[in-house]
Amino acid sequence: MTTNTLLPTSTAGSLPKPSWLAEPEMLWSPWKLSGEELVIGKQDALRVALQEQQLAGIDIVTDGEQTRQHFVTTFIEHLEGIDLEERRTVKIRDRYDASVPRVVGPVKRPLSVFVEDARFLRAQTHRQIKWALPGPMTMVDTLYDDHYRNREALAFEFAGIINQEARELEAAGVDIIQLDEPAFNVFFDEVNDWGIDCMNRAIEGLACETVVHVCYGYGIKANTDWKKTLGSEWRQYESVFPKLQQSNVDIISLECHNSRVPMALLELVRGKKVMVGAIDVANESIETPHEVAATLREALQYVDADKLYPSTNCGMAPLSRQVARGKMNALRAGAEIVREELAA
Ligand SMILES: [Zn+2]
Repeated sequence: MTTNTLLPTSTAGSLPKPSWLAEPEMLWSPWKLSGEELVIGKQDALRVALQEQQLAGIDIVTDGEQTRQHFVTTFIEHLEGIDLEERRTVKIRDRYDASVPRVVGPVKRPLSVFVEDARFLRAQTHRQIKWALPGPMTMVDTLYDDHYRNREALAFEFAGIINQEARELEAAGVDIIQLDEPAFNVFFDEVNDWGIDCMNRAIEGLACETVVHVCYGYGIKANTDWKKTLGSEWRQYESVFPKLQQSNVDIISLECHNSRVPMALLELVRGKKVMVGAIDVANESIETPHEVAATLREALQYVDADKLYPSTNCGMAPLSRQVARGKMNALRAGAEIVREELAA
């Protein structure tokens, strides 16, 4: 399934959960249901998330990550070799403390993690569907390793596991597989030494399109505080773009709106498709379609129109449903403005 629309819109992935499923506007929110009720509750939430996207006119839809508590830990929790009970506190991306699972033995994926959910989404829509998985480097950064004691070795193990899951997601009808790698914006030497090779391993052999999402994190306080330390120009992308441009990934998903990323850096990935973040997820105010259009126009100086995918800077899980809905509407309306300009 492909889309013929110019400037097809999408979101980075996560959307707010309904308050009957989980405590709203927080990460790692505990489920409010259990057992069979939880299974059905997650499916119903997925239907709602899909409906919200379709009503907003989003072209490439996702599950809104309604079946997972967190974009990284939920995947890790389904693997063997992981101790979920005796957790450890680690500093995520050198920024904030979180209680995370511990690697205690060889990691394996005994069963698929999201494939049933992807089939469920596939059955509900004819639009292109995109499915996000955590990237290997971000996974390594979101746990405590008591077994391999080597970030690169563990990341390559995870890349193999992600690849198994991705192949099954593709077979279930997913059109675009996305790896979330916010860690690419922090550990530049490792990204260039092995992170991008590891990403290539994770997407090896896939016929569907692939995305790597590299952002400055969810709009939570630890991230917004960190952004304040980054100075007036954020040039983090510059360190990893040359090698990303050479990588096997098809699409690069970036944070562009309200960030201090100089748009000219996009020239460094010329030739790749780019999901341009034109919606800020770190504040509650809803962009106007004209603001979205302005960001897209600026990006068009460096990204060919047929390779530009308007998107959000990051996931919208921590926002209210009303704000997320408003932002999706603004994204679609802003993309429409620029589409009309391009057609004229
Ligand atoms: Zn993100």
